[in-house]
Amino acid sequence: MSVPVAPSESDAAVDVAGNLARVLAHVGAAARAAGRDPAEVGVVAVTKTHGPERIRPAILAGHVIYGENRVQEAEAKWPALKAEFPHLRLHLIGPLQSNKVRHAVQLYDAIETVDRPKLARRLARIMTEEDRRPDCYIQVDTGEEAQKAGIPPREADAFIRLCRDELELPVAGLMCIPPLEEEPSLHFALLREIAARNEIQGLSMGMSADYETAIEFGATLVRVGTAIFGPRESYSA
Ligand SMILES: *Cc1c(COP(=O)(O)O)cnc(C)c1O
Repeated sequence: MSVPVAPSESDAAVDVAGNLARVLAHVGAAARAAGRDPAEVGVVAVTKTHGPERIRPAILAGHVIYGENRVQEAEAKWPALKAEFPHLRLHLIGPLQSNKVRHAVQLYDAIETVDRPKLARRLARIMTEEDRRPDCYIQVDTGEEAQKAGIPPREADAFIRLCRDELELPVAGLMCIPPLEEEPSLHFALLREIAARNEIQGLSMGMSADYETAIEFGATLVRVGTAIFGPRESYSA
């Protein structure tokens, strides 16, 4: 299994530490502008498609939370990085297939894409077997896109009850990925509303293009890739 490398720019050409500092400053400013404590908003630095040399400056700058969207890709680069830096926390932000659940439970500290009953039941069983309980975020398909991942909004309340109350998964929050062509704030508002009526605190929403808006709407985690690590190959969207 080879680690993918970013093709467009060499690692040295991207000022990862400078980009990270800028994003963190914007996150702090957006939180304060919304009357929130900046400490309430975590940044998931999204490293998909990038190799360890691109990631390392962020780690050395003290950043702790990272996100990957493919279990296999993460398995190729993160075990070594986590062995070297055991305090790092890795979030899965892409779809989780049932046959990868055990690997995901072993590798990730949070799984942000819990989106169907079969997956939730399997996670509950394997977390018990592995004696490891990564935080779970329930992904809501706020755009109701037929082929998109996420539980439809009208099924969200029942699915939250299944995950949190029946299966006793460690549900830390909700997560959404708004459709590209739509106004993200409508989706952020919907996710916030579903969380509020279910008394859920965590909201993972907002990416490089819209994380400041997401913070205004209550995001507790924003997932930022391009603005920190530079451009990716297009396949990774
Ligand atoms: C790639 C990805 C991100 C980061 O996207 P950027 O636009 O590069 O910040 C955030 N969330 C998910 C689910 C992703 O797959």
